[in-house]
Amino acid sequence: MPTVPMLSPINIDDRAIRLAPYNVAPIEFHNYWNVTGYASVVNNGHTVAVHIPKRSKLPSIKGGPLKNHYVFDSLHFHWGPDNKNGSEHHVNGTKFSMEAHIVHHSNQFQTLKEATGHKRGIAVVAMFLQASAPNPNPDLDPLIEALPKIKTAKEDTHLSAQAAFEWFRSQAQPSGYYTYIGSLLNPAAGKEVVWIVYPGAVPVSASQVEAFRNLHNIEKKLITNNCQGLCPARKMTVYYCPLQAGGTLD
Ligand SMILES: [Zn+2]
Repeated sequence: MPTVPMLSPINIDDRAIRLAPYNVAPIEFHNYWNVTGYASVVNNGHTVAVHIPKRSKLPSIKGGPLKNHYVFDSLHFHWGPDNKNGSEHHVNGTKFSMEAHIVHHSNQFQTLKEATGHKRGIAVVAMFLQASAPNPNPDLDPLIEALPKIKTAKEDTHLSAQAAFEWFRSQAQPSGYYTYIGSLLNPAAGKEVVWIVYPGAVPVSASQVEAFRNLHNIEKKLITNNCQGLCPARKMTVYYCPLQAGGTLD
């Protein structure tokens, strides 16, 4: 199984990107906005992770650089000590307040574990959140309200799966996105991933970001920073895929 050196996260520099060499298509989000049932939300000691029980119609993505459907595995968040240092990817040298990773595996495999290490086995959508809104973003509130219930590491709770995804719905069809072949981050570092990085940011309030910093790790200390530092610069190609305005798929 192919492994790659650590290639993520990176600073995406608009002066160094290339336009996508293929017909650019939007990333299609299937079954995200009409998903039914519950999602589990867990404090795993490093981050907040959202999973949904296996069912016949799991959310999936397709389009852009992805030749087939990639099935939802999990969603987790990164944040940092302050609102200017909370993302793993940087865009033109700028960091955001938070970064969410929506992790998918190719439908050629049954699980993320099976897909790990296979060429184009995994695709992650990176979505930034920025503490720029004066008021809490109501679409993120269901998740924020779940956080006090999982203050201690290894605790979990539930909320509706739809509520777990609603906060990024408005950003799901941007005017363009970046994509590159990079690697997974800890704990499976060095395994190939198709990264799809959305340049815009979901506006949230400072108090919403702060709610994540109140969570405890295994040592019962606050998780104030769970971002990995940038990889040393490598010669890798980041493509930009400009899009026409498109509709939101369900
Ligand atoms: Zn991550």
